[in-house]
Amino acid sequence: MSKSRETSHPRIRRPRRGSAFAAAAVLTAAVVAPAATPHPSAPASPERAPALSARPATGSLEPCTLAPGHGLQMSEGIPTHRGYSRSTGTVHALNLMIDFPDVHGKGTARERFEEFFPQTTRWFAQSSYGRLDYRPAMPIKRWLRMPHSFRSYGIKRGSPFEPGYRKLVADLAEAADRRIDFSRYDLVNVLVTPNAGPPAAHAVLSVTYADNQRAPIADGVPLANVSFVYSRQDDGSGSLHRTGYRVLPHENGHVFGLPDLYTRGGGDKVGHWDVMSEDWGAGNDLLAWHKWKLGWFGPGQVACASRSGVSAHTLTPLHRADGTKMVFVPVSASTGYAVEVRTSGGNDEAVCKPGVLISRVDTRVDSGGGPVTVMDSTPDGRGCTRERNVHPELSDAAFGPGQTFTGSAGGTRVTVRVTGQDADGTYGVEVTRRASAGARG
Ligand SMILES: [Zn+2]
Repeated sequence: MSKSRETSHPRIRRPRRGSAFAAAAVLTAAVVAPAATPHPSAPASPERAPALSARPATGSLEPCTLAPGHGLQMSEGIPTHRGYSRSTGTVHALNLMIDFPDVHGKGTARERFEEFFPQTTRWFAQSSYGRLDYRPAMPIKRWLRMPHSFRSYGIKRGSPFEPGYRKLVADLAEAADRRIDFSRYDLVNVLVTPNAGPPAAHAVLSVTYADNQRAPIADGVPLANVSFVYSRQDDGSGSLHRTGYRVLPHENGHVFGLPDLYTRGGGDKVGHWDVMSEDWGAGNDLLAWHKWKLGWFGPGQVACASRSGVSAHTLTPLHRADGTKMVFVPVSASTGYAVEVRTSGGNDEAVCKPGVLISRVDTRVDSGGGPVTVMDSTPDGRGCTRERNVHPELSDAAFGPGQTFTGSAGGTRVTVRVTGQDADGTYGVEVTRRASAGARG
């Protein structure tokens, strides 16, 4: 059923207010391959949290698993198509450090590998509460030389898979095949010598081809989930060694089925609340919706407020493993509001206004079109962050004690009131879900 949809996302570069390094504020993008036609009959991942909830006005999780939209490159819907890499349990990542006859490897291949590991492994362990055991392998210890020049592959920002990347993937598979059994790995990271192509501060080439079932085959398997990382995310602030690896969690997020949350139009919809939105600057985590989609919550950690009425919930900070992590309020088969608590800790390095974060998820909106929108508690505010490469406007979006959010969609009115906050970062919320005037629900 796959049509030829091998299109690319144009990279976007957004100026950061108040940053002396605005030109460095570049985000990475994904190009996702076709064959991502959602399979409505695909069984739910066995790792997904079972339908457990005993809270008032909440029930089965089923109404909260919004179905994937049709005809999209990547969707926020659940379940994630099986063609992506699995995101729980032990995941084996093959790392190939490549260079070219016209661009020889700079530094050693091991040094390139160590720009991303063990940081990426730790980031996933932390974000997934230990549910993703990411095992990076580098069976080839040296630069793997491609048979053709870097120039000859014609790699640019936004290059589609055909023809350049198809050739590059086929060439690297052939170059490595005698030494590697590709069928042993769940995903492939191609860590390109950092001197190939422009600096990331000028143009981000890093890209992922995910669920690409028509990719070249090696050892009997299509190389369907491959992330390419170029250059270095260096903004000149001296934080490269600490934060520069996060391009890889972003690109691997695509391999696991997550869409881009920054928008091609440049409007800021999620800010620094998810690494699929911003991966430069201070460390950040994923939104609760993404963690649920990836299967990282345990039984009882998601409450689904699908019935009319009022329900009370206690939410613990997202970076902590314990407690309820998300209340989801579905308003249609494809749309709903996610409620979570974000405070500094874990991968969330620099939350300047901790509190209850509310975002709207729409599974009909494609990657790069804004499938998630964070609701701003201070829409006129300029934000509270002074971190470099953090979009400031939404940094103060979270709701605090006494504040109320009201949203209306699909004939349903949703109110979220923050009822209290404990010293340990736990927040109380009261969710009200009713049919709006003129609608019956
Ligand atoms: Zn991306």
